[in-house]
Amino acid sequence: MPVVQSRGEAFRAPDRSIALAEIIVREHADQFAESFYHVFLAHEEASTYLSHGVVQQRLTQSLKDWLADICRPTLDEISFAERQRQIGDVHARLKIPIHLVLEGASRLKNDMTRLLHARADDSEVILGAVIAFGDRVDLAMRHMSAAFVHKAGQRARADEAYRLFALGQDVSAEREGQRAALMEWSHTVLFDIIANGSGLNCKPLSQSPFGLWVRHRANILFEGTLPLDNMKSAMREIDEVILPGLAAAPSNSADGNSLMMGELRRRIDEIKFLLNDLFQTANAIENGHDPLTRALNRRFLPSIISRELGLAASNDVPFTLMMVDVDHFKAVNDTYGHASGDAVLQQVADLLLNAVRPADFVFRYGGEEFLLALVETGAAKARDTAEAIRAACEKHRFRLPGQGELSVTVSIGLAEFDGHPDYKFLIDAADGALYRAKTAGRNRVETAASAG
Ligand code: GH3
Ligand code: MG
Ligand code: MG
Repeated sequence: MPVVQSRGEAFRAPDRSIALAEIIVREHADQFAESFYHVFLAHEEASTYLSHGVVQQRLTQSLKDWLADICRPTLDEISFAERQRQIGDVHARLKIPIHLVLEGASRLKNDMTRLLHARADDSEVILGAVIAFGDRVDLAMRHMSAAFVHKAGQRARADEAYRLFALGQDVSAEREGQRAALMEWSHTVLFDIIANGSGLNCKPLSQSPFGLWVRHRANILFEGTLPLDNMKSAMREIDEVILPGLAAAPSNSADGNSLMMGELRRRIDEIKFLLNDLFQTANAIENGHDPLTRALNRRFLPSIISRELGLAASNDVPFTLMMVDVDHFKAVNDTYGHASGDAVLQQVADLLLNAVRPADFVFRYGGEEFLLALVETGAAKARDTAEAIRAACEKHRFRLPGQGELSVTVSIGLAEFDGHPDYKFLIDAADGALYRAKTAGRNRVETAASAG
């Protein structure tokens, strides 16, 4: 957990000033609370889980307590920090965006300044109150944000781990099960329409077992993918337009009904199609591995590399990325065919996987490019590994699918982690070194300058 440094000013406010801030907070508690939560309710992302009812009942009281805490005449720094960190943890757990909390805090400071200016007290006391309140809110926000970032990171890793686990389940059984659940719902609707003349008694698709699956499991497995977004909008169309249309159609209006029925069938077919699409993506992803080479695919690359950078920074150990690209690979395809190209890629990947330790990561980064993450390894040691890989490729006789063998070389770029927290910078540095290896004649290893 990162520690927030406090210079202590926030705790040394003049007594009369902080007492005045405390009076304002007490007298205008409702106004402060309203102003703070107005920020949240104005944002769609936050208003979904902060309904007005909940705000009234619980959060308003929490905010008032928090304000009273901020304005205590004497504060113990350690327990104050602890309380703020707990709030940051809660925000992370509820996925309340930290930028909204910061925006709310800045509103509170504005409100306090305005209310203090309207007072007839000694101007020095007023100024002291503005500064003391602002300092304490800022310090609280620093503690809260530090805890939030820490917790949110833990959570992202847990989500990723669950996704990996869930993808390892029996994917085809899951697809068949959901296809059946969708069909069962549509049969129930049809039956209801035939029996009652309208879809009046139909349960919305989103409330059916299929809908539950989409809203929960599919949301974790396929979050942010186009087929899932399209599937959700088709479901909304059914629940919000088609079903109410069927319910409203008088039983004698055969035309209106058959129009809606046609629309319903079209949407269900669309969802079935999207369901297939969704699982095809999942099959290709497998357990995060590239089917051709068994190397990791790029899906989890950001999580894995970011995590390794975090570990390298906090444990003060080196970390090096290695970008490997097959030389003149296009010519292999052009001369010997795509299947031969594939065979060469498989053998290159085998050489790479054999050259690194089990703790290292080998990704298929692009068509004939591999990215290796060498944990607890500095540039000098990585260079030895890279040189060994380069030499092994040069020596290897690549077997082709028909008959025959082939010589292939690789170029390699290295970049050692220099403390920059954005993993993209390190990848770019390795890429830059690879480019130099290519322009310097290929079949060689280059190291990025920042790696020293
Ligand atoms: P350089 O030495 O500069 O790297 O030249 P190159 O020919 O290796 O590089 P270029 O980027 O021009 O060509 C890469 C080729 O890799 C083009 C593409 O058709 C081929 N390729 C990409 N993915 C696959 C694959 O999965 N299988 C096969 N057989 N070929 C692939
Ligand atoms: Mg190449
Ligand atoms: Mg390339």
